[in-house]
Amino acid sequence: MAQGQKIGIVGAGLSGAVIARELAEAGYEVEVFDTRPHIGGNCHTERDAETGVMVHIYGPHIFHTDDAEVWDYVNGYQTFLPYKNRVKTTSQGQVYSLPVNLHTINQFFGKTFRPEEARAFIEEQADKTITDPQTFEEQALRFVGRDLYEAFFKGYTEKQWGCSPTDLPASILKRLPVRFNYDDNYFFHKFQGMPENGYTDMIEKIFDHPKIKVTLGQHFDPRAPHDYAHLFYSGPLDGYFAYEFGRLGYRTLDFERFTYQGDYQGCAVMNYGDASVPYTRITEHKHFSPWESHEGSVCYREFSRACGEDDIPYYPIRLVEEKAQLADYVARANEEKAVTFVGRLATYRYLDMDVTIREALDTARLFLAKSKEEAAMPAFVHAPL
Ligand SMILES: Cc1cc2nc3c(=O)[nH]c(=O)nc-3n(C[C@H](O)[C@H](O)[C@H](O)COP(=O)(O)OP(=O)(O)OC[C@H]3O[C@@H](n4cnc5c(N)ncnc54)[C@H](O)[C@@H]3O)c2cc1C
Repeated sequence: MAQGQKIGIVGAGLSGAVIARELAEAGYEVEVFDTRPHIGGNCHTERDAETGVMVHIYGPHIFHTDDAEVWDYVNGYQTFLPYKNRVKTTSQGQVYSLPVNLHTINQFFGKTFRPEEARAFIEEQADKTITDPQTFEEQALRFVGRDLYEAFFKGYTEKQWGCSPTDLPASILKRLPVRFNYDDNYFFHKFQGMPENGYTDMIEKIFDHPKIKVTLGQHFDPRAPHDYAHLFYSGPLDGYFAYEFGRLGYRTLDFERFTYQGDYQGCAVMNYGDASVPYTRITEHKHFSPWESHEGSVCYREFSRACGEDDIPYYPIRLVEEKAQLADYVARANEEKAVTFVGRLATYRYLDMDVTIREALDTARLFLAKSKEEAAMPAFVHAPL
């Protein structure tokens, strides 16, 4: 495929932006479309008109990675300021530190354990009658025992996934979800930070290239005739095929916005572990920009529910039923010519931002290599299954 030919990109989120930039720099004319009136996809950030606070419109986004190239990439478009994600949870009438760590254990059980004592104590709590855990609940009981499970995992999981932890596979809880020290940094990654002027500003700079044209507020029908030499599609996989095999299951989120004068909760994210509280967490956005100062505050109460036809798909469910359906869609996609499915929706996977960027870079590079060899580009560079 010759440079100078036009490339179409469906979706102006991170996947679309990174691919657009790589191809534009290699000499291609790139046209990008998004149904939404803004770029940035689900990472979109915007200043709240009332308070001036930078808001993560589709839920809290913290950048964290071990991938040095991706870290350099994002820092090329935005200054990332230090940020550690420290989450709290309100559960059974108290506030605890998450992920469950030595502080949480000592506070919850009214103890002053040192690390090895806590480890031995939690081992005693664990349900050793469960030898081959099949469900999320069995796995949690086997790791941490009933008390910690009910306080920190059960209610939250029920609300987040809309089903009983007895219906979720054990694989969701792969490792022991407890730390035996006072480290309350949510992520283990080497690089963490927040973009000084928000993710949308960063993505705008990625798009800022004379060979990239972005059209917003325009739904692109990828099955309709077009004159692009190749299409990169970051919309929903099932949507591409007009839901031929039914809709892939997603959870959606509702955000109930409220404002407050001062500091509402003293931290960015407060989870609510009790099943009796209908929301999963409250996000207070100004704490994501600790270098800024705002009198007013804007908060989101977050509710999770099954995704309907007109809702925004957030989290892929990927249980047994969805995986079978997914296999049908993947087979159909592999029959398509001159289209590559990228990003979280088109590959029906939960992808952190760093993984999204890594995959987009790999996809663009593979495309350039294949073009040079005049070889066909695959439908998936990163397989959904
Ligand atoms: C609640 C939540 C919290 C998250 N928190 C974090 C976090 O803390 N850290 C982290 O690293 N990652 C986080 N993520 C993941 C992050 O949001 C994704 O990595 C990222 O959004 C993926 O980018 P994308 O471009 O693949 O998809 P998207 O951002 O979804 O972009 C796809 C775009 O395509 C557009 N589109 C779809 N179909 C069409 C069509 N037919 N025509 C035109 N446009 C179309 C959509 O409007 C959308 O803008 C979180 C995700 C969620 C859901």
